Amino acid sequence: MAKKFNPNKYTYHFNLGHNVKLGDGIATWSTLKGSELLYIPVLEKKVRGTCKDSEYCTKDCYVNKSYNRFPKTALYGHARNTIGLRRCPSKVFADLHHQLSVTNRFRTVRINQSGDIENIQELEMWVNLALLHPNFTFYIYTKQFKMASEFILSNGLPKNFHLNFSIWHEHGVNEYFKVASNPNAHAFVYDDGETYIPADDYCRAYINGKLNHKITCEVCKKCYKPKTKVIYCKSH
Ligand code: SF4
Repeated sequence: MAKKFNPNKYTYHFNLGHNVKLGDGIATWSTLKGSELLYIPVLEKKVRGTCKDSEYCTKDCYVNKSYNRFPKTALYGHARNTIGLRRCPSKVFADLHHQLSVTNRFRTVRINQSGDIENIQELEMWVNLALLHPNFTFYIYTKQFKMASEFILSNGLPKNFHLNFSIWHEHGVNEYFKVASNPNAHAFVYDDGETYIPADDYCRAYINGKLNHKITCEVCKKCYKPKTKVIYCKSH
């Protein structure tokens, strides 16, 4: 029987758990990948992914594996967050604000570990949380390139908020260049041999296509260091 999920009653939270890629001190937020309807077995219904206009990368998305292996945890968890942001964004905001106000367990938040922002209000919500919590560092990935560049040109970015343009081949390059002078705007470039932008460095979380257990994001920090601007990465 389908599980009943009431988005207005659920308590939303950043996820924190042992994560070999990120390290133990980085909490994450994820929504459903892709732009198609995904069947959520726990809910016995389909929910649309959040990555609008990004059909070019969906089949290579690194989240696919987790959805196949963990439909009751990863897939269902991303679906809950997706529904929450669509149906009751102010409840999501209030719950996350509360969690950040009381936690001692993490000081860094990675947004869109999977999925993307769906509208400007969501980006504003993350920025507002960063402004309310200056002791935390936030970093987000997005392929909503136009929305991101327009936001940065109009508002700038808080000191503790880093925005990574998740660049795939030519997609996102021009929009990134519009705001590249902002120290907290970064380009995270998928490197499958076809790249359109020179990099300063590369992500060492993957070596020869395999996860490198010696480097975690918590140790590396390149996606949220003002000086690192363009990073190549072998996994997407
Ligand atoms: S560059 Fe560093 S911070 Fe960014 S994803 Fe790779 S390991 Fe993590």
